[in-house]
Amino acid sequence: MQLIDGKRIAQEVHAETRVAVEALKAQGITPGLAVVLVGDDPASRAYVRSKDKMSKELGIYSVKHELPEETTQEALVALVHQLNADPAIHGILVQSPPPAHIDEAAVVAAIDPRKDVDGFHPVNVAKLALDDPTGFVPCTPLGCQRLLLASGIDPAGKHAVILGRSMIVGKPLALLLMAKGKGGDATVTVVHSRSRNLPELTRQADILIAAIGRPGFVTAEHVREGAVVIDVGINRVEDPANAKGYRIVGDVAFEEVAPKCSALTPVPGGVGPMTIAMLMANTVKACRQITGG
Ligand code: NDP
Repeated sequence: MQLIDGKRIAQEVHAETRVAVEALKAQGITPGLAVVLVGDDPASRAYVRSKDKMSKELGIYSVKHELPEETTQEALVALVHQLNADPAIHGILVQSPPPAHIDEAAVVAAIDPRKDVDGFHPVNVAKLALDDPTGFVPCTPLGCQRLLLASGIDPAGKHAVILGRSMIVGKPLALLLMAKGKGGDATVTVVHSRSRNLPELTRQADILIAAIGRPGFVTAEHVREGAVVIDVGINRVEDPANAKGYRIVGDVAFEEVAPKCSALTPVPGGVGPMTIAMLMANTVKACRQITGG
């Protein structure tokens, strides 16, 4: 069984990004990323911190806007407009989820699609569906595709079954894997909470991708002998033995599924590090497209 090392593959992506940043800097251009956080959700705060830190490590100009919980929709959209107009900023992301009083879709729609490095703007969703390479693809699905390719697993002609149909993971991943060309050309099935005979469907997968947010949901009965399994899930489960009182597990019951797989991603250390790596890569892409550098 091949244990897919997301940390190592993310380092490869970072190395490419570093080279691209240097090349832009040699032309007098510095890629810039603005990350906006509203409220003080600890997990969101940690994500924002690591995105800021990674940007800086790669030589990307990084700006963090941490706004209080009670920030109004108008104030948040005004900040997005200000960042849209800022020539030093090429990528903008508003950390999800915002507080309940914020209309997230409206905030995303306010981002200049050319700076939408999360790939959530309707223009970029359409570009993905249209196979337009100038668009931005959400970072987690992009990271899953890159993990497969870097591990010598070509989705072409294979049956990929995706568990979950969210706009952040499942749906864009389905579009990516069914697109024509490198990293695509798969036969794709998407299953979700209303699917019937779920284990029967997932057992047909050559490549099974779990993105549902249920700890250990995917068990041996869901997996065909020799399948590749990609675990997108990041779930906190209580663990008194751990100093933090919890640990992070995926959507796959690792111990029982591993013996059946030809390849499997661990959690943590699988898809997680790839998400941030693809965000950095998207920021460089945005900078190139905007500046022509
Ligand atoms: P959502 O909650 O938005 O979507 C979950 C999907 O799973 C839905 O389509 C839902 O179906 C489906 N689902 C839920 N329960 C079941 C079930 N019992 N049987 C079948 N399908 C089910 O989650 P996200 O897509 O945002 O995230 C999924 C997981 O991936 C989470 O653990 C999240 O933390 C993780 N994640 C990891 C990232 C990373 O960087 N590695 C980035 C983003 C997410 P329905 O549509 O019918 O409700």
